[in-house]
Amino acid sequence: MNALNEYLDSRTDETIKTLDELVRIPTQVPPGENYEKIMNYMAQRLEDLDFQVEKLVMPRELFVKKNPRMAHLTGERVNLSAIKDAGKEKTLLINTHLDVVPADSNWSVPPFECTIKEGRIFGRGVADSKGGVAALLTVLSAMKELEIEQGYNLNIAMTTDEEMGPYSGLCYLADLGKLKADFFLSMDGDSDDITTASNGNADWQIDVLGKSYHSGSSFLGVNAIEKTIPVMNGLMELKKKIEKRRSKVPSSMAISQKTGIKTLMPVLNITLINGGVKQNIVPDRCTMKGDRRYIPEEKFEDVCKEMNDAIAMVREKHPDIDLKISCDDVYAPMLTDMNHPWIKEVKKMAEITAGKEIRLVGAQGSLDVAYAVRVTGLPACCFGTGRRTESNAHAGDENILIEDLVMYTKFLGKLICGANNLSE
Ligand SMILES: [Zn+2]
Repeated sequence: MNALNEYLDSRTDETIKTLDELVRIPTQVPPGENYEKIMNYMAQRLEDLDFQVEKLVMPRELFVKKNPRMAHLTGERVNLSAIKDAGKEKTLLINTHLDVVPADSNWSVPPFECTIKEGRIFGRGVADSKGGVAALLTVLSAMKELEIEQGYNLNIAMTTDEEMGPYSGLCYLADLGKLKADFFLSMDGDSDDITTASNGNADWQIDVLGKSYHSGSSFLGVNAIEKTIPVMNGLMELKKKIEKRRSKVPSSMAISQKTGIKTLMPVLNITLINGGVKQNIVPDRCTMKGDRRYIPEEKFEDVCKEMNDAIAMVREKHPDIDLKISCDDVYAPMLTDMNHPWIKEVKKMAEITAGKEIRLVGAQGSLDVAYAVRVTGLPACCFGTGRRTESNAHAGDENILIEDLVMYTKFLGKLICGANNLSE
């Protein structure tokens, strides 16, 4: 293990070179560019490391059916499954996504190449989530060169469309049965904490219906926008009630330090409203949309029932309001037992490498990893290379510390060759 650690120290330049090569293939979504190109690159690298590689393209019909709002996006949704059977008892699934969010104009360096400045590497995707991939390739090649045996069979899933969703490449691979393993590490996280849980996400829509009329005699029509006001008030009442609830799962350091909120909490948001055509026409429809993030202790069915009940109460008071309501499950919550031996193993390896305590926490947002966990039932957690408050993931000048990248490489090395005898 010491030999590997020393060796990894001497390979930092190689990791940065790999990361630069990955960043130079711009995989922005939307629309989802260069997926084929980046997966070809990964396939080549993993084949050279004796992996059995399979390219899996999500069929167009499935993509459109599961992502109806993204149906206009063309381009193949390419993913990769790479397996190396070492004759071990247990299999470790390692995943992250290779798509990135687009780069806007708030960059002081070119986004699609790596720039090194003051101990940091800048480039779109270095934190979310190409840094982990570069680290993984260095570890695997170091292990091959030093002839170090892996502690598990490896199943590496490189996927796309995570930044867009809801039905990403990882969801597709889960449904194809390509995520067979005993333990699951997602590299789509940050290095501040280990994420073992996440909120679920339900999307809702309410259409309030009216009757259009010349606005001069508006009393002869039914103004859908004005009828929406009591509905919004009803939702605000419900929001107050919902947001008092707390999960048992601790929230991330970034959130608890900033807000004092110590555990995951559910939220209800109105995020979109649309109605009316012209000043002088009484609007006949007002559409409201929003989302409801629910904690792992809540169930989707109850979340919907609660919404429906709240709206039913509004209509009892205002029987003249005509509306339709719908509620869709987008991502289930994730909740991995924090005492599971796999989670303890990841925590131990992360803490040994980082030389500090790393907490197990939940994410307020929702993850495609949760979908994979629901399908496979695997014990899973997310741990990555970036820092939540410093790395600017999804913003300009995304960056990681070189020191964190080296730390992550050593963490992966320990994890992959470590625990030969980890049993459930
Ligand atoms: Zn990500």
